[in-house]
Amino acid sequence: MAMRPRVELIPIFEDNYVFMLIDDERKEVVAVDPGETAAVSKYLEDNSLKLAGILLTHHHNDHIGGVKGLIGKHPAPVYAPQKNQNQINSADHWVKEGDTISVGPFEFSVLELPGHTLGHVAFWNDTYKWLFSGDVLFGLGCGRLFEGTYEQMYNSLQRIKELPAETLIYCTHEYTETNLQFCKMLCNLDNSPITGDDEDLELYENELMNRRDIGLPSVPLKLSIERKVNPFLLAHSVNQFAYLRDLRNKQ
Ligand SMILES: [Zn+2]
Repeated sequence: MAMRPRVELIPIFEDNYVFMLIDDERKEVVAVDPGETAAVSKYLEDNSLKLAGILLTHHHNDHIGGVKGLIGKHPAPVYAPQKNQNQINSADHWVKEGDTISVGPFEFSVLELPGHTLGHVAFWNDTYKWLFSGDVLFGLGCGRLFEGTYEQMYNSLQRIKELPAETLIYCTHEYTETNLQFCKMLCNLDNSPITGDDEDLELYENELMNRRDIGLPSVPLKLSIERKVNPFLLAHSVNQFAYLRDLRNKQ
């Protein structure tokens, strides 16, 4: 029986993850958002893996900074958002909404999810229900709006929300514990717009703390659970979303 591919996380910087999608039979890997070279390069060499390709979700340097060094040592195709052609000079394949791409052993479809940046994309693997979503959705939170509007970000989050319930979300930052504090603060507000269940949040906190106490990441997120507790997915309108995002910025 064929071995199921797996996703390994390489922590870099303060709280970023580089995702390594590994096919153990072919000894091939696809790397997502390699913000630095050294850790990824070492991982490839230590595990005798061939780099089959690189996926980039958006143009921020903590997501793309390692690409040049990496492809210098391990030549591979680099896929990046077409809308970021002027900002990313290390890519050679440009993707847009609706594209389907084959990268080594994996297939992805491309979703444009503007808000954090205008060109931001996510890569969806339908076989394994994996979403590589950069800085759009975080555990109990969402990305900041650097370039897009509230409406764009709200719509992008709604698109993630509509993916299949079993979806695993690979977001780039480990912000879940910080966002939990925001959620608790929200629960205590008199006029909180959030209608999530306190019990669901308690269960979430218990599981999160169990994982973090033994040094495990909170990523991947389970979409089925984020739908119940993530205030930015619970928001019923753009206005409500904007209110929450502003409140979070003030924290
Ligand atoms: Zn970013």
